[in-house]
Parts: sequence; structure tokens; C-alpha cells
Amino acid sequence: MKILKVLGTFALAAVLAISANAAEKKVKWKLAMTWGQTLSPFTDAVHGMADMVNKMSGGDFVITIDAANKHKAPFGVFDMVKLGQYDMAHSASYYWKGKDINTLPFTTMPFGMTAPEQYAWFYYGGGMELMQEAYAPHGILAFPGGNTGNQMGGWFRKEINSLEDLKGLKMRIPGFAGEVLAKLGLTVTNIAPGELYTSLERGTIDALEWVGPGMDIKMGFHKVAPYYYTGWHEPATELQFMVNQKNFDKLSDRNKEILRVAMRTAAYDMYIQNYHMSGDAWATMATEYPNIKIKTFPKEVMDAMKKANEDLLSDYAKDKPLLKKVLDSQKAYMLKSRVWTQMSDYLYLKDNL
Ligand code: CA
Repeated sequence: MKILKVLGTFALAAVLAISANAAEKKVKWKLAMTWGQTLSPFTDAVHGMADMVNKMSGGDFVITIDAANKHKAPFGVFDMVKLGQYDMAHSASYYWKGKDINTLPFTTMPFGMTAPEQYAWFYYGGGMELMQEAYAPHGILAFPGGNTGNQMGGWFRKEINSLEDLKGLKMRIPGFAGEVLAKLGLTVTNIAPGELYTSLERGTIDALEWVGPGMDIKMGFHKVAPYYYTGWHEPATELQFMVNQKNFDKLSDRNKEILRVAMRTAAYDMYIQNYHMSGDAWATMATEYPNIKIKTFPKEVMDAMKKANEDLLSDYAKDKPLLKKVLDSQKAYMLKSRVWTQMSDYLYLKDNL
């Protein structure tokens, strides 16, 4: 009897020790998104990733997600991860070009790689290593976070037949592509997403770009601007997961791998989800608004945009060795992989449309 009691005490002590250990091992992380609560498919990628981490770790690694309305700083997430206020974030690398120009090329570049080419570059062509080199000074690890695929060039109220037609046009187009168009004489503005539809409807702006049919349809632009131009400026917009390096280093090897696999799976899933959404949305738009016209920019416009892009890039890369190294790597990789894209997808599609 006495022996049993002693054994029981031991057993209880052992159980308590194990559960205390389990409680210690439970990892709770916080993630900040640049986006609001619901912006499909961006926010789906984040929730999908956190859900995978939770399930794969058997509930030992839990990531809670704060949308921009909670943390109040959509473009403050870089600093919040850097300072360790959040363990990780979901955003887009090209938003940080004002903080550190070396982060610019890791989202997409005008006239750059398509999504399959760019994924090949990231995972097998040295892109990931270059991205870590760019983020290392900030104590941040960066990972691909979901791709929109080729974005559309935007909704225009009037048809563009020449370079002259672009001059003086007011367009919402953010970032580097906006700088390219400014060189062609456009007035580039950045208007809050909530005001875009009204601005386009009232003619405060003549054109805007957003993403592609899947995300554009909810904005309603097709109801007020019938010319839908094909893309040139964001051929493979990759979102990003940023992770605080110190907190990542503290994870067990198992949790590191779980996180890595979940981020990679979520990124790929967003790419195909957006593909699905765009096919679906375009079918609806084309049926309900048969007056929408799909256009490509005339050759003289494309040539001028390409030239402005090249000039701007060489200005930017001047005296910036790491930026130059990344841009050179992308260019070389694109030249090589594009030959294969042409032999495989392009020639296949050309004869089968
Ligand atoms: Ca866009």
C-alpha cells in the first residue's frame, strides 16, 4: 500500500513535470498583416499558413494574426518585425524601397520574370540567398508569401493609341511603375483604395491599375472604364513573409521546418487561388459587361516604357552594389529561362488558342 502511494506521488510528479515542460515548449507567435481583415486571396494565404503551422505542430506552435485595423500601421510592419514587436508579418517587399533600396526587386519588376520563372529563380536560381543578403542588416528573414501572377495594366476611360494619348493623363499606379509612367508624361497619383471607384467614375483620374479580374471585380472599375489594358509593370507580384531572425533562431528544428513548409505551401496556394479567382471573375465580367475591351499598349508606348524603365533602373543601381547584383541576377536568369518559356508555354499557346 505504502509503496503504491509512493509510486503514485512519483507518477503525479512526473505528469506535472511533463505538462510544465509541454507548456514551456508551446510557442505563441504574433503576425501583423499590411492588409485589412479580409482581402482575398492575400489574407487567405496568411490564415492558411497559420492553420497549417497549428495543425502540423499538433497545437504546439500557434500564430495569431493582426490585421491593419488592429495594429494601425499597414506600412509599419517592417519596423515592427525588425524591433521584435511582432514575430512575423505579411506584406510586399517593394513597399520598403524608401527604407532600403535593396529590398525593391523581390516583389516583381516591370518587364521582369513571370511567376514560374521567378519562383524558379527564388528557389533554385539564387534568389532566396540574395533576398536574405538584402534583409540581413535588418535582422529579418524574408520568404515568398504568395503570387498574384501577371497583373493587368489597368482600367482606362479612353483608348490609348499613341504616346501622345498618355501625356497629361492622371493615373493611380503606385511604386516603381508609377515612376516609369511619370517619365512618359503621366501625372501619377496614389489614392486610397476606398476612394478609387468614385475618382475613376467622376474623372478625377483617367486610369488606374489594381491587380487582375479576380481582385478587380469587387472594386467595380469595369463599370466605369471600359478599356482593360494588359500588363507590363507587375508580371509576377510576390508577397512576402518577414520573420524576426532572433525569434526564428529560438525555434526548435521541427518548428522551423513546419514554418518553412507552411509558408511555401501558402505562397503556392495563393498563386493558384488567384488564378482561379481571375478566370471566374473574368467570365462574369465579360458576360455582364460585353463592352469591356481587352487592349495591349501600342508598340511605341511599350518601347517608351521599356526605355524609361531601363534608364530608371540604371539610375537606381548606381553606386549600389547589392541592388546591382540582384538586378543582374534577375536579368541573367530571365534571359535563360525565357528561352524555355518560349519553347514550352508560348509556342504551345500560340498554336492552341
Ligand atoms: Ca497592382
